[in-house]
Amino acid sequence: MILKVTRETIAKSVADRFEKQYKGKGNIYPNHFGKIEKLKALGKTPNPDDIEKIIGNDSWTRVPSCNNCDEERDRDFDVVYSLTGGGEYESFIICPDCINFLYGLTKK
Ligand SMILES: [Zn+2]
Repeated sequence: MILKVTRETIAKSVADRFEKQYKGKGNIYPNHFGKIEKLKALGKTPNPDDIEKIIGNDSWTRVPSCNNCDEERDRDFDVVYSLTGGGEYESFIICPDCINFLYGLTKK
C-alpha cells in the first residue's frame, strides 16, 4: 500500500502516539502535564499548527525525510509517500522527486 504523508495526515495520530509515549509518566516529564488531554480535545482532524503550539515544537508533526535522497539533499517536502503502509515512521518514505526519477526510468 502507498500512503500519502503530509503534516495533516501525521497530525491525526499525534494524540495517540503522544499518549502512548507519555501517559502515566508525569513525574518524569512534568513539562508535558496536561498535553495529552489538550491534544485529544483538538478532535480527529487536528490542525498541525495547534498541535505544535501545545507541544512546543514541530517534532511530532514534521513530514519525514525521503529515505532515498535525504543523505544527498537537505530538503524538506510538504508531501512524501510511505511505501509499505506500516505507518508514517515505520515505512520506507519516498519524495516526489525520487518518484519522478523512477517514473523516468520506466520510460527508457
Ligand atoms: Zn527523495
